Amino acid sequence: MADKRDYYEVLGVERSASESDLKNAFRRLARKYHPDRSTEEDAEDRFKEIQEAYAILSDQQKRAQYDRFGHDSPQGNPFGGFGGGGFNINLEDLLGGDFFSSMFGGGGRGRTRQRRGSDILIRHSIDLKHVLEQSEQEVIIELPEACDSCAGSGAQDGEMTSCTKCAGQGQVRVRQQVGPFIQQSVQPCDECSGRGSISENPCRECAGSGQEMKSKTLRFNIPLGAEDGTRLRMRGNGEPAPQGQGEPGDLFIELEIEQHPWFERSGADLIMSLPLGYSDMVTGTTITLEHLDGKSLDIKIPAMSNSGETITIKKRGLPRQRGSGRGDVIVLLKLHMPKKISKATKKALSALKENLSPADTKQSILDDAVDRRAGS
Ligand SMILES: [Zn+2]
Ligand SMILES: [Zn+2]
Repeated sequence: MADKRDYYEVLGVERSASESDLKNAFRRLARKYHPDRSTEEDAEDRFKEIQEAYAILSDQQKRAQYDRFGHDSPQGNPFGGFGGGGFNINLEDLLGGDFFSSMFGGGGRGRTRQRRGSDILIRHSIDLKHVLEQSEQEVIIELPEACDSCAGSGAQDGEMTSCTKCAGQGQVRVRQQVGPFIQQSVQPCDECSGRGSISENPCRECAGSGQEMKSKTLRFNIPLGAEDGTRLRMRGNGEPAPQGQGEPGDLFIELEIEQHPWFERSGADLIMSLPLGYSDMVTGTTITLEHLDGKSLDIKIPAMSNSGETITIKKRGLPRQRGSGRGDVIVLLKLHMPKKISKATKKALSALKENLSPADTKQSILDDAVDRRAGS
């Protein structure tokens, strides 16, 4: 517990914060990090931290103690020291009915409240060229829907009796230890799967679940310049709420961008290495490739180029994610050494040797060293 964060810092308030400042900060953060809702990765830990900070600071006596001693209260950590059983923060009162009604999908307090449907995450692969222009993609997902045969009731003959475990409410109250807290939550009844009623004679098509899987086709656009791992969220396209009485979950589409055979990405720039023969390096040439944007990419190599030099072709890279325009294509020149050469070529090269090699080897080594020192 040595690296425990300061409670005021956790809630993002001043040390002089009033009771209502604290409450507002707590509400805002709790809404953001509630583990049933949040898609933040560390939501659960953050939520516990926020709850703990609020439990202490909202209690005048504990706050005074904390202000004097911080986490190192003479009575041990605040939880042990303050008689530490569990804090029972009433989230429903603090966060308000609207938070929970949107979470559980409508219905007033104490009525049958349904949970929101689950979120779905799917992965979708695209070619690199698809991030260059507005491109529409299609995914097919399987979603549970009300069974046709029993109209979602789950009963073969349509006859249902009230569930005894939840007294027909479809939900049960569960007390749960979350870290140092006892948290009360409402969960769907497992006996009747939250439906409130059960059938003696379950539907044969869906084995009494009331649901069957159906496939659904969805279209979406790839954002310009999207990177590998980008997650797109399609609100309301996740699983329907159990019993179809709440908000559906969301669909997340994680983009997998396939590796290009020769381009590497560096932000909006595209980097490639281009192997060239010695003669092309010396005399210069133009190499034309078909580019991702459908037009040809002309790479002009000037005469007397060197291996390791780069050529930048402006604005032929990928679209910039924020802002406008495109990145560049950067071409790294590499001297290509043939694996073997014919006798005739070897003979021809030998004849050229005098022209191609430095006249004075020692002098050229020295010149090169001077050049390098001047350059760096
Ligand atoms: Zn059915
Ligand atoms: Zn039940």
